[in-house]
Formats: sequence, C-alpha cells, structure tokens
Amino acid sequence: MTFQIVHSRVINFLRVITGYFFSLITKRVIHWGFPLAVSIEPNNTCNLRCPECPSGMKELTRSRGNMSRDMFNSIIDQLSPFLSYLTLYFQGEPYLNPNFFEFIRYARSKNIYVSSSTNGHFLDKENIHQTIESGLNRLIISLDGADQESYSAYRFGGSLDKVTDGIRLLANEKRRFKSKTPKVILQCLLLRSNEHQLEDIKELGRKLGVDKVTFKTAQFNDFWNGNPLMPENPGYSRYYRIDEKSKVKSQKSKKTQNSKFKNQNYNSKLKSEDPSTFQIPKSPNFPIFKSSNLQIFKSSNFQIFKSLNFQIFKSSNLQIPKSSNFQIFKSLNFQIFKSSNLQIPKSSNFQIFKSSNLQIPDSPSYYILKNRQPNSCFRMWSGCVFTWDGKVVPCCFDKDALHVLGDLNQNSFAEIWKSEPYNAFRATILKNRKSMDICNNCTQTF
Ligand code: SF4
Repeated sequence: MTFQIVHSRVINFLRVITGYFFSLITKRVIHWGFPLAVSIEPNNTCNLRCPECPSGMKELTRSRGNMSRDMFNSIIDQLSPFLSYLTLYFQGEPYLNPNFFEFIRYARSKNIYVSSSTNGHFLDKENIHQTIESGLNRLIISLDGADQESYSAYRFGGSLDKVTDGIRLLANEKRRFKSKTPKVILQCLLLRSNEHQLEDIKELGRKLGVDKVTFKTAQFNDFWNGNPLMPENPGYSRYYRIDEKSKVKSQKSKKTQNSKFKNQNYNSKLKSEDPSTFQIPKSPNFPIFKSSNLQIFKSSNFQIFKSLNFQIFKSSNLQIPKSSNFQIFKSLNFQIFKSSNLQIPKSSNFQIFKSSNLQIPDSPSYYILKNRQPNSCFRMWSGCVFTWDGKVVPCCFDKDALHVLGDLNQNSFAEIWKSEPYNAFRATILKNRKSMDICNNCTQTF
C-alpha cells in the first residue's frame, strides 16, 4: 500500500472520529470524513429459505437483481481513497452474482480488506480456487447445527453435508496452495434448535479445519412476541423476557430500595415504575383496538402504550387514521408511526382497528432487546450500505431499503453522504434514535 493511501485513510479516520465526538457533545451533526467501512450487496437473491431472512423468504418489497460491474467499480473508485474495509454481502447469497470474484479482485487491487459471508452451498472446486485466487481476506460460512435436523431447522432447503464438504475442500485447497486467505470463520446463529450442540459445532469446526468458530445471537424480525427459534438459554439471546427482567428487578430491589430499572430499550419513561404495571390483556385481541371510540386511549390501559414504547405496532398490519383526531397520537409520543410504513387512512374514526390483524398473544411473556439504545450511532458516521442497484441505505438493519438516503444512479457518493436527507437521519439518531423503526432491533451501543 502506498504512503499516499495510508496517509489519506488515516487522516480520514481522524476526521470521522473527531466529527462524531463533536456531534455527540454538541448534539449537532458534524461530519468531516468519508466512510471507513461499507457493505455492498452483490445481489439480493438466495437459494435457501431461512425463516428470519426477508431475502430467502421472498419478503423484500424492493426489486431483485445482481449488482453490475460498472456500479461496483464506481463505488470502489469513489470510496477507495478513504475506505479500509468492505463487507461484500447484505441480503442474499453473494456467490450467486457471476461477478462476485471480479468484485473481490477489484477491491483488493485498491488495498481494501474484503470480507464476505456465504451459506456454503457453492463451494465447489472451481469456486474455491477463484475464492483463494481473488485475494478475499475473510469468508464467514453459516453453519447452524451439528446434524442435518438441527441445521435445517433454520436453513430451510439447505444440506449440511454439502456445506461441510465445501468447507473441508476449502481448507485442503488453502493448504495445497499455501494460502493463508481467506480466513475461514464458521459462524453459528444461536437458536433453540442448536443451543444444545455448541460443543459439537466447535468440534466440527476443528475437524473441518476452519480458522475460527463463532456464535452469534440471532436477530428476529418480530421479536416482541417471542419466536419458536429463540434459545431457551437467555444468555444466548439478544432479547429478554419482560417477566424475567421483572424478577431480576424485584430481587435487586430487596437489596437497594431505590434502584432503577436500567439497561433496557423501552423504559426511558418508566424509570422507577414497577414492572408489574405492564398489564397486558390476555385476550388474543387487544381490546383497546376493538373500540372505535378514540376516548378509549384515555383509559387506564394507556399505561401499556407508554411502557412498551409501541413495539407492538411494528409487528401488526395496523393502519392508523389520518383524521383530526390523530392529535392524540402525537401527544402520546407516537414517533414510531411517523417513521414507519404504516398506511394512514382518512377515516375519521377508529373503526379500522376493529378490522386490523393486530394480535396480542395470551402468553404472559414479552421480549425486548437486551442492550441499551443510546442516542448515538457511530455507524452513521463511519459507514453505509449499498444495495445491488446503487441505493444508499443507513446500515444493514434496513434490509428492505426503507430509508433510501441517495441513489448513485443520480448523484455522486460525496453528494449523498453530505446531503440534507442523510444529515437529517443522523440528527434523528442523535435526538431520538428509538423513533427510527429500524433502530428498534439494533444492537449498536455507541
Ligand atoms: S439501526 Fe439505527 S442505530 Fe442501528 S446501526 Fe442502523 S442507524 Fe445505527
């Protein structure tokens, strides 16, 4: 790497860091640099049907396709003076893009570290040779079970044997070509189907000759009501059950009477309120929505809305009226609606609630994200995601490109990165991150 590239990337890093910290201190968006690390989506199609993947489940509303070589080269040409790290995947299986190896070669020719991730179903001899020869630095291979039954509990349509054969061959070919790259990471999502097999999976990784075995907590799109795939061991999940936390709280409060209920994403308004006030109706339909009378929101049941930060709406098909009565929502800090895709009909009453699909389970347990969600996000200063067709979205949590901040078919990256919509998004994160729909399931903590 030339001195000039090292110099420009180091200077850029310092600009990004200082701009970010000044932004945190002043609560104003200050940005002096360009991305340090980005993700590029080679394609958004996949051969498997993993239940929590909107690409595999064909739930993406955006169009499907492969990134062109011109688009990829244009991104790299614009960013390479500053960019150090490229994640070459987003939604979809990257080996399905016929230009995948060309992309890696081009990025490596600009001295960018390249990492990719695969479900491991395309690791035949030819692809393995190309993977090694391309200079790919790191390859994450998903393997979520030590036997076919547990593996296919999540990787619908997948074959464990095919993946393990490919990994074994890759390790052998790396040895044969005396290549240290790609570093092969066997990654296991922690699920109920495999949580009893973690030692077996480590052992399998050792036998296959991977460089590392990692375990990752799984993201669930509608985590609120729980999910049959959530691990039973709470230590393996990024969510916790409210009733579990309540127990912790009540135990703690025996020791410290004034202790607060900390480290949760829903409770900025709760503070020292007793979690037992989370009275959730046990009926399968939430009665509050059955009423067409707006006044119902003034009832004591309103407590539930405050307490749960409206997560419930995210998983429903609920439509919210756009009537003049809507002010009640505004007054209840209903920001989530403003940033969501919810359709707001013109009805002047709330009849619509009667016909909504909103379902509240009769389970006494509800799940929320474990980590705290401060009004900050370094990713919004240090990186972004490019979809296959050249759209710029804030981060990998925006899987369906709901927050397109620019389009490389229309503007240069520099214009998009410093544009008003981009800075408005950053400003929202600094002021009220929870108001962003995609941020409510995000583990970013700084
Ligand atoms: S979801 Fe929000 S907080 Fe998380 S990385 Fe994306 S922009 Fe940042």
